[in-house]
Amino acid sequence: IAPRTPLIAGNWKMNLDHLQAVAFVQKLHWTLKDAKHEDGSVEVAVFPPFTDLRTVQTLLDADKIPFALGAQDLSAHDSGAYTGEVSGAFLAKLDNRYVIIGHSERRQYHAESDEVVAAKVKAALRHGLIPVICVGETSEDLEKFGASAVPVAQLTAALAGVKADAEIVVAYEPVWAIGSGQAATPQQAQDVCATLRGVIAEKLGADAAAKTRVLYGGSVKAANIASFMREPDVDGALVGGASLVVDEFAAIIRYQK
Ligand code: PEP
Repeated sequence: IAPRTPLIAGNWKMNLDHLQAVAFVQKLHWTLKDAKHEDGSVEVAVFPPFTDLRTVQTLLDADKIPFALGAQDLSAHDSGAYTGEVSGAFLAKLDNRYVIIGHSERRQYHAESDEVVAAKVKAALRHGLIPVICVGETSEDLEKFGASAVPVAQLTAALAGVKADAEIVVAYEPVWAIGSGQAATPQQAQDVCATLRGVIAEKLGADAAAKTRVLYGGSVKAANIASFMREPDVDGALVGGASLVVDEFAAIIRYQK
């Protein structure tokens, strides 16, 4: 894939069991037939629940469906006595290309600290997975510190110990925009994504900053995707709710700038 190929990523969260997943992926594939993801100009990735990954992997492989597969989380550990955890080694073996790390729902409901996020980023990279590192401010943060301060601090922490040549994806997801129907403005997304690219430059170097995809996420839908994709520092979208509706997600993938 060419550097900074736009990435449209669907985070299913805790939706669609493995049977529903098959129907969904097949329908999405048929809806998208001849769309631009087939020619490599846009990369599409789906992030099903853990229990769906094996089934979806088999389907993508059998039907040669060009969607990348990703998990929604992983363990910071590689193996051992960690009941309920899932190793990056297992995800890599199931052909996962990506893994979401530090989603605001994990930070909020599972008390994931910046240190845990950093350890998970390293675990992903150890196993050849591309971490999709999520950062974003709450509405209280926004009021107190402005838009960039918290995402910058979160990304700085997440990149501790990451090598300059590591492939990563960063997703700017303002918490107030997730699932609220109130997306950031394209200008707000651009400003923070550009600032985050500056953090990548500082921590990993100019080359990494030029190659790394920085996504926007938070109430992205077919009606607003193009406005985000027109911004120079927005390289794609992490989509929650709208990624569960075939026609809506297909329309997002087919955005025209
Ligand atoms: C998300 O949870 O990553 C997300 C962006 O959700 P939504 O698109 O539903 O706002």
